[in-house]
Amino acid sequence: MSQIDSLSYCVDARWKGTNVKRSGPLQRKTSLRPVSKKRQSQQAARRKLVKEQLAARPYCEAGERIYKWQKDHLGSEYARERRKTDQCYGRATDIHEPLTRARGGSITDVGNTISVCRRCHDWIHAHPDIATDLGLLKHSWTK
Ligand SMILES: [Zn+2]
Repeated sequence: MSQIDSLSYCVDARWKGTNVKRSGPLQRKTSLRPVSKKRQSQQAARRKLVKEQLAARPYCEAGERIYKWQKDHLGSEYARERRKTDQCYGRATDIHEPLTRARGGSITDVGNTISVCRRCHDWIHAHPDIATDLGLLKHSWTK
């Protein structure tokens, strides 16, 4: 027998106790795509953009702003101390989106990019409130 005649027990109260029967074979012959064609092309465009932007803007654009904030708010001694252990790497490895994907930001818009090093990128997402004040993150309603 290739087809299942009696499927799972129906939990809907109206049909309680009845068996659900499939009226015909399944329509789908292949498995679902893990990534849609639309998303696939977006991701290809994103990879191209990241590569181009990192080549054009090889240095971290957030490090100085973060350091200045730390110096102004936490004191220069703290900032100096932190600079030793938690220093900006200088060379950018990530393309950060101030308006994140989760907030409806475009991942293929050059205007929505800041080249950052991994450490500053981590810092930005670990301190969203401060990063927003510094212009490194945007709220969805400031689109
Ligand atoms: Zn940095």
